[in-house]
Amino acid sequence: MILIFLGPPGSGKGTQSQIIQHKLKLLHLSTGDMFRKAIQDGTAVGKQAQAYMDRGEYVPDEVVVALIEERIQEPDCKNGFILDGFPRTAPQAEALDALLAKLKRPITHVISFVIDHAKLSGRISGRRVCTVCGRVTHVSEIPASGKFENCSNQNSDCELIQREDDQAEVVEKRLEVYQEQTAPIIEHYRNHSKFFEINADQSANDVTSDVMKVLEG
Ligand code: AMP
Repeated sequence: MILIFLGPPGSGKGTQSQIIQHKLKLLHLSTGDMFRKAIQDGTAVGKQAQAYMDRGEYVPDEVVVALIEERIQEPDCKNGFILDGFPRTAPQAEALDALLAKLKRPITHVISFVIDHAKLSGRISGRRVCTVCGRVTHVSEIPASGKFENCSNQNSDCELIQREDDQAEVVEKRLEVYQEQTAPIIEHYRNHSKFFEINADQSANDVTSDVMKVLEG
């Protein structure tokens, strides 16, 4: 199974990827997470990506495509994966189509998370990420203690931080770049026989159940 999750920043595709990967035993491939890890590890890719990410711009296509081309040919991708945050531009979509055709691995479903853009700034600037397990939440859902009791990964408390690029000044730029470069590629996938739009303006549980319905249907 190869799933593509499309949607603007803050539409919840990362959260849904985290949930669906466990339900369907798929690998969750987030190019944003891959870049953040590369930056943390101080790799050459991380160094190339950092300045773009800090400005809320896209990392150049050739860097992202090379990263994904290598990653999806690794053995742990054999049973299927979810692409979250890739492709984001027309050249990335074309490169992915060509690679999957070469590997004879068709895209199974394309899910587009749809939400009114006026709601995104608030969702993104209120977003917090656990440094331990990577779980994403919103300030309105953090318990009074400031931590979740059960960090999903390691049985320890969550340490919640705000991503640098989730700060208000960068968010506006990210939304603008999304509108210009990524919104048009939804049209690239609209004719796929398993293209579905999901209402992302619901509770995470309701979104998951809509996603599961289309994947099981
Ligand atoms: P995300 O975590 O998906 O919101 O991605 C965070 C940042 O990583 C983006 O704002 C971009 O700077 C960079 N990035 C992630 N995926 C891509 C991609 N497919 N193409 C270009 N840049 C990307």
